[in-house]
Amino acid sequence: MTDANTMETENTYAFKSDLLKGKKGLVLGVANKRSIAWGIAQALANNGAQLAFAYQGDRLKEKVEELAATLEKKAPLYPCDVTNDGEIKSLFDNVARDFGSLDFLVHCIAFAKKEDLSGRAVDTSRDGFHTAMDISTYSLMALVKAAEPLMEKSGGGSVLALTYLGADKVIPFYNVMGVAKAGLESTIRYLAADLGKKNIRVNGISAGPISTLSARGIAHFTDMLEMHRSKAPLGRNVELHEIAHTGLFLLSPLASGITGEILYVDCGYRIMG
Ligand code: NAP
Repeated sequence: MTDANTMETENTYAFKSDLLKGKKGLVLGVANKRSIAWGIAQALANNGAQLAFAYQGDRLKEKVEELAATLEKKAPLYPCDVTNDGEIKSLFDNVARDFGSLDFLVHCIAFAKKEDLSGRAVDTSRDGFHTAMDISTYSLMALVKAAEPLMEKSGGGSVLALTYLGADKVIPFYNVMGVAKAGLESTIRYLAADLGKKNIRVNGISAGPISTLSARGIAHFTDMLEMHRSKAPLGRNVELHEIAHTGLFLLSPLASGITGEILYVDCGYRIMG
């Protein structure tokens, strides 16, 4: 193991252990190397996990293939657009065939139309609302339901989803995505209540803003970064590896007593008045 100072100064993913040795996990939402899903995947792989990835469509296949090839253990890749029940079924048929069982699921998926991430929330169309809720919120429920039998085979499991403060407070231009994240956080709690008896835990990380592909679709995103940096007690924005290592903790047996929680990884921004 590496001490915390070395982790920060040399290699942000240098923390290595056998914490997840023998555990199998499915990660959804890698678009490129800046994706939160990819940060989490690296932390999990460095700590012994065997991973599989789901990508939305052919457009992303090559990028995800390229990144997955850098991992020590060969990771299978499967297509899955989460708006399609048939694709969710095929995804888990593939996981069942290749892995037999599943220990964790990482949900890093969100989408809203560009026009709904600018201007006024009140102008959101019915279609825009449905799209954001379907992809960013309902998908967690559908994926966890499909994962449930495979997690039961493992004697339990752990699920992680990514959310943002806009679920709870009004953040300029986050609009319908804030509504979707509020739904996602509630979904986390209902799923945790339903599945606790099967030893399946469901938690969320509320991450501070990070410059990723989807985040850059939010109008004035750089102002959001600056607002967080200037107000957060730590005086900076959160880094990807800090979110990733919190994900590692929540998905691991170290967090065996935690379910239905939203953990803020935001350099303390949320506590400020
Ligand atoms: P990202 O790299 O753009 O990842 C978002 C992923 O969602 C992409 O891989 C995207 O694929 C996927 N996706 C969208 N629609 C999909 C669909 N129908 N089926 C399957 N996959 C779909 O951005 P990110 O910032 O890492 O986002 C990951 C999660 O973190 C999201 O839930 C986001 O809301 C959350 N989060 C982000 C921040 C931040 O500041 N970045 C802060 C808090 C929480 P495509 O590229 O093909 O659309």
